[in-house]
Amino acid sequence: MKAFEMRLPASLEEAIALLPTAEGDESSRLVAGGQDLLTELKHHLVEPERLVNLKSIPGLAGATWGSDGSLTLGALTTLQDIYEDERIVTTFPALAEAARSVASPQIRAVGTIGGNLNQRPRCWYYRAEEMVCLKKGGRECFSQFGRNKYNAILGAGPSWIVHPSDTAPALVALNASVEIVGPNGKRTSSMQDYFTLPSSGNVLRETTLAPNEVLTRITIPAPAKGSKSTYLKFKERSSYDFAVGAVALNLTLDGRKITAARIVLGAVAPTPWRVEEVEARLIGRDLNDETIELAREGALAGAAPLSENGYKVPLTKGLITRAFRAISRS
Ligand SMILES: Cc1cc2nc3c(=O)[nH]c(=O)nc-3n(C[C@H](O)[C@H](O)[C@H](O)COP(=O)(O)OP(=O)(O)OC[C@H]3O[C@@H](n4cnc5c(N)ncnc54)[C@H](O)[C@@H]3O)c2cc1C
Repeated sequence: MKAFEMRLPASLEEAIALLPTAEGDESSRLVAGGQDLLTELKHHLVEPERLVNLKSIPGLAGATWGSDGSLTLGALTTLQDIYEDERIVTTFPALAEAARSVASPQIRAVGTIGGNLNQRPRCWYYRAEEMVCLKKGGRECFSQFGRNKYNAILGAGPSWIVHPSDTAPALVALNASVEIVGPNGKRTSSMQDYFTLPSSGNVLRETTLAPNEVLTRITIPAPAKGSKSTYLKFKERSSYDFAVGAVALNLTLDGRKITAARIVLGAVAPTPWRVEEVEARLIGRDLNDETIELAREGALAGAAPLSENGYKVPLTKGLITRAFRAISRS
């Protein structure tokens, strides 16, 4: 690993002033729990001269409940603190289940929600030091015609990465928003719009965050009366692993009738993949097998698998079925 300077800013303003202003300038990087960034440093994927440690800034960790029932999480809240909070477990089960499904207990104890949302892709080609793929400034995405078992089947091109975060689909399903602070002050974004597709302009990034901006808080609105949520993840081994398919589901029911729906797929697209046109078709329908089939088939209708990842289509359909049935039974 290349030697670097570690800075411990006392405020957000100080941290932001230490970050690069130009796109592609990697001389300075934010670090939170370090569980993703340290791997990148050890594998020489990035070699910044300076790390800016967010943990020295007060007020960025912990959960705060609004009088309206909304939840605000500081970016430094650990994944463990999320799923060990009983009120989060009962109010936003999808988030608690997603946080609990990440990696191992050791990683969840130090890994933060801000780091989880901003972690970089796990694609083999991106993670291999010697491969200069599109995501690292190269000319092509090698997974399109190479080894692509874990790559995208929806929304992809010119890069076929999948977004690796477990909490991101859950937060999009829960209609969360994020607070971002930069040199010109604060801005907010929906969680959904925070993530960007490789086709939308900058293939080097997975989010709309500028190099000198910091994600500071995540807010989830109070759940509507009758709403229920869940997160299901499939991984290849029972030990810690990234998802090969996932679904976050948030349904609002009036009796058996669906009055609102958010379905967000994980590990199948370069961003958390929301299927809004399918959601719209569910409104007013009873939650029954026919409705579940409509959701399952509609959600994967646009899938375009590569040579080795066609299995993700039936796998994800199975997860969708199980998520709907879990909510139906609860
Ligand atoms: C063995 C292993 C298994 C894993 N399994 C999973 C898994 O199953 N599911 C999953 O979702 N993840 C997994 N991860 C990825 C990751 O470690 C965790 O998601 C963790 O939450 C990252 O948080 P962190 O605070 O350690 O992030 P860091 O490593 O500190 O930061 C990650 C990235 O986010 C940026 N960043 C951090 N905080 C902010 C902020 N507030 N604003 C803007 N940018 C920021 C950093 O610059 C860096 O690029 C795994 C990692 C390892 C090593």
